[in-house]
Amino acid sequence: MASTSQPVVPAKKQEVSLYSFFSPGGLLSRTHPAYEFRRGQLQMAQAVEQALGEKRHLIVEAGTGTGKTLAYLVPVIRSGKRVIISTGTKNLQEQLFNKDIPFLEQALFPNGNGRLNVCYMKGRNNYLCKKKLYDLTDQPVLSGLDEIEHYRAVAAWEKTTQTGDRAELASLPEASALWHKLDARSDTCLGQKCSSWEKCFITEMHRRAMESDIIIVNHHLFFADLAIKQQAEYAPDAGILPEVGAVIFDEAHELEDVAGSYFGVSVSNARVEELCRDVEGSLQRNHALSASLSGALKSLRDRSMFFFALLPQGEGRFSFENRREFLEENGDEFLALQQSLTRLGSELENLPSKPEEVFNFVRRAQELQVQLGFLMESEDRNTVFWIERRRGGRDKLNVFLQATPIDVAPILKTCLFDKLECAVLTSATLAVGGGFDYVRRRLGVEHAREVVLPSHFDYENQALFYVPPDLPDPRTPQFVAKAADRIRQLLEITRGRAFVLFTSYAQMNDVYQRLLGEIDFPMLLQGDAPKSALLEEFRLTPNAVLFATSSFWQGVDVQGEQLSCVIIDRLPFAVPTDPVVAARVKSIDAEGGNAFFQYQVPAAVITLKQGFGRLIRSLHDRGLLVLLDNRILKKQYGRVFVESLPNYKKTTDIKQAEAFFEAI
Ligand code: SF4
Repeated sequence: MASTSQPVVPAKKQEVSLYSFFSPGGLLSRTHPAYEFRRGQLQMAQAVEQALGEKRHLIVEAGTGTGKTLAYLVPVIRSGKRVIISTGTKNLQEQLFNKDIPFLEQALFPNGNGRLNVCYMKGRNNYLCKKKLYDLTDQPVLSGLDEIEHYRAVAAWEKTTQTGDRAELASLPEASALWHKLDARSDTCLGQKCSSWEKCFITEMHRRAMESDIIIVNHHLFFADLAIKQQAEYAPDAGILPEVGAVIFDEAHELEDVAGSYFGVSVSNARVEELCRDVEGSLQRNHALSASLSGALKSLRDRSMFFFALLPQGEGRFSFENRREFLEENGDEFLALQQSLTRLGSELENLPSKPEEVFNFVRRAQELQVQLGFLMESEDRNTVFWIERRRGGRDKLNVFLQATPIDVAPILKTCLFDKLECAVLTSATLAVGGGFDYVRRRLGVEHAREVVLPSHFDYENQALFYVPPDLPDPRTPQFVAKAADRIRQLLEITRGRAFVLFTSYAQMNDVYQRLLGEIDFPMLLQGDAPKSALLEEFRLTPNAVLFATSSFWQGVDVQGEQLSCVIIDRLPFAVPTDPVVAARVKSIDAEGGNAFFQYQVPAAVITLKQGFGRLIRSLHDRGLLVLLDNRILKKQYGRVFVESLPNYKKTTDIKQAEAFFEAI
């Protein structure tokens, strides 16, 4: 790997023009076993090359089958710029790193006379923190035999691993409590002051990124890094991603949600407890746990417990609008919690000889104090304040105080799009009604070129889109029984082989129970097994039917006859009572806009396109798409959905669905 931070592109990479790479008879056709000429792919590559050359942003919708990863990788390589590629899912990250990049390396350098400098970075919590492991080795605080066994496995692995990436440790369960004590997340990291800094896996990853031409990350890592850099504007070493000439955001339809979570603030009882545990463990190890520090920790734990128990009751996510009234009544408890954080900070600062991590604990206590102050007292008009109750391990109920930006557009405009020379936003689902108004407005992208590419699939002949005109409105109580009956009829026609996708768990379970024993095909239900296991079972079980909710609407790829039908229960409008959605709606309306048409409908259009996108995954796939919600035909806004979907053949007659399947 090159050692310069300014990548140098071998002349060879630039010799191959886009046309001579993608066109019939070109390099791709000679090297790729499943080559087909895809006009959209070449057009996309040209658009990306132009954006990189002109230093201009680009928004490009490229439907399934375009081959968009090669369409941006080839111009990126030709540009000679250092580029970050950020994806929504780990699957796509892995495809880029393990499949597309090695393929391009082989195609461009068949004699091994060159290579691409590429690195693949995951979120910091995927990597081992050596310091934590060594600290634990000196004084293991482990609970249970499982943890002791996992600890031994991690300790042995640490001696041989080059990356520290936990994915190498197949024996470590996904939800391992031990890993949480050992991961390299940033809030517990000592940075350059750490005695293991030189050998640290994160330092090494940072070094690799500095030497790479292409850095593959996911949106979570990208925005976590951006938020850290934003908070520490004058700290040049903040963050681990280097400066780049461009960022390609694939699966860009997820950007608003991910950015919102990283530019928000979240404080929970669990976070306070974690600080107490870390302080206690460290001081015990260093024989510095005095009586007064024990007292400070006890007081912080008590105060935290009182304060979080006082917060308004409720399940799930709900808004916290009456913060002022809450403080009027419970201001003393809030103040007491703040004071106990101050006390812990001062006690730590007053320690006569401090182990290095103590400075980190002081910073964490101060950060908690500042963030709690913001969460309870800020009047920021672009922030929605809300509460979430979530079950933690061992039946614990964790309470999160949350603040999320209502509109991330001004933040992204200032700290991302105005600073970047070139950002490419791409996805199979970005356009609404053929345009990008929605995504531009929600993300704050200005002066971008825009391209909607023609599809590579023959949707008109590959898919039939059926809407039953006779079902009741899905908001009425009569809907579920009638919908279940229609699903049964449709599954007879398609002989199972279907995804039945729901907008809520309640509806999914209700319909599943009604159909249990009523259909002759194997029924799989989300929640009965992990997602990947369910998908595998679906692929391997002839005529299976999978009942699922939102997590199966995207990033799921089942090619071939096994998936011949996708049924969706209703138009996927976001839950209007969700605190973040409600705040966005209120804010758009208050500014004189029309939140329903500017926000709720476009967001639902993109989700519906994602859901239906599960069906046709290759040129040879055929099948039936069903929307049981006929508001798409009856309401004025339905037109926006219809105009935004690919040009499937459409029908309201179930007999045509029968005929379609007889013809398959
Ligand atoms: S530098 Fe940070 S992440 Fe790396 S070993 Fe030290 S504390 Fe852990």
